[in-house]
Amino acid sequence: MKVAVYCGSQMGKSEVYKEAATELGEVLACTGHDIIYGGSNVGLMGKLADAALDAGGKVIGVMPTHLQQREIAHANLSEIYFVESMHVRKAKMVDLADAFIALPGGCGTLDEYFEVFTWAQIGLHEKPVILYNVNGFYDALILHFEKMLAEGFVREEQRVLLHIATSAQDIVNILAG
Ligand code: AMP
Repeated sequence: MKVAVYCGSQMGKSEVYKEAATELGEVLACTGHDIIYGGSNVGLMGKLADAALDAGGKVIGVMPTHLQQREIAHANLSEIYFVESMHVRKAKMVDLADAFIALPGGCGTLDEYFEVFTWAQIGLHEKPVILYNVNGFYDALILHFEKMLAEGFVREEQRVLLHIATSAQDIVNILAG
């Protein structure tokens, strides 16, 4: 499969995030999955791409030209698309991917995660959207999802869209269906 991975342009404070990004890159490459991601070599994005490339995987970047200065483009990707805006980047990543994973990250990662999640909610795609809850990073978000369900802002039938993984192996299992 082609798997879009959203993750921080920062490393995070704990080593555990770098290790998870590295392991995920290796595991996806070794299980025959291609990675689509934002195309930069900074933060967890860089770790993920390096690990997958080192393991012989195919890594495709999608980078908006105006971000090229801030998020330095990775020099050794299998393919890189330069696009004119964030909107085009997000749409291109959705078109290319068969599944989506959010590793820990900041507001950019959350924005990308929720966009593909809400597109699944309204039936714009039927691809799995996986929240990788490394080290309990997304515990509060998962609790908030439960709150939205309990308070009637997310429908019970939408619960199935929330795929939570706590290991790279979980992710491989979800991708295998
Ligand atoms: P962050 O999680 O904030 O470190 O950002 C991770 C990725 O999301 C980076 O590739 C950013 O370019 C991207 N990003 C940042 N802000 C936004 C935004 N407003 N909309 C979409 N993507 C964003």
